[in-house]
Amino acid sequence: NPFVRARYALSAHNPRQLPADGGFEVAFAGRSNAGKSSALNAICQQNALARVSKTPGRTQQLVFFDFAPTLAQPDPGAKYLVDLPGYGYAKVPQELQAHWLAFIETYFETRQALRGLVVVMDIRHPLKDYDRQMLGYAVRRGLPAHALLTKADKLSRGAAANTLQAVRMELQRACGDTVSVQTFSGESKQGVEEARAVLARWLEL
Ligand code: GDP
Repeated sequence: NPFVRARYALSAHNPRQLPADGGFEVAFAGRSNAGKSSALNAICQQNALARVSKTPGRTQQLVFFDFAPTLAQPDPGAKYLVDLPGYGYAKVPQELQAHWLAFIETYFETRQALRGLVVVMDIRHPLKDYDRQMLGYAVRRGLPAHALLTKADKLSRGAAANTLQAVRMELQRACGDTVSVQTFSGESKQGVEEARAVLARWLEL
């Protein structure tokens, strides 16, 4: 699992702070409390990796995780998991919210390194406005997106399968074939391998 080597690299709260746009990256989006941090931690087999994204004051930043070098791979290259944190936190001043959205929009529209988008959604509340907005950015760029329906352990197998099918059909209708979807649980680890496979393919890891 190459994701165990993921580590905090840097945070960017404006476009000038972004790392050089020459590598491969995958962005993670999700409404707050959807389970995005837990998903990142489960995928990377680390308990506190995504904690940094939750540090107060970091909630309006893009948080970049890169991969530590190994003997076998001394230069992993500029490959990043990018956490787009914090949307939906209460009490963010209006103009900051606008600044934030403009940054995200520019990032999606211009970032060459961006290879795909992961949208993390609570399986009990999928496809809210924010999720559709993020998916829209990816689809407009012609980028693939992958939806994680997380906290799947909170539903029965049957109910989870029904939701998966319904969301799959809706995504197909709204976004076409570039969007895939799976069930996931940071708690039971269901779907973790499937998610890693998608990321590894996008990042050429
Ligand atoms: P974030 O705000 O999207 O980063 O969400 P977190 O990862 O911090 O999770 C929000 C809450 O949902 C926490 O209380 C987690 O323990 C819980 N949670 C996250 N993922 C799962 C999951 O797969 N199953 C269950 N049962 N709870 C989860």
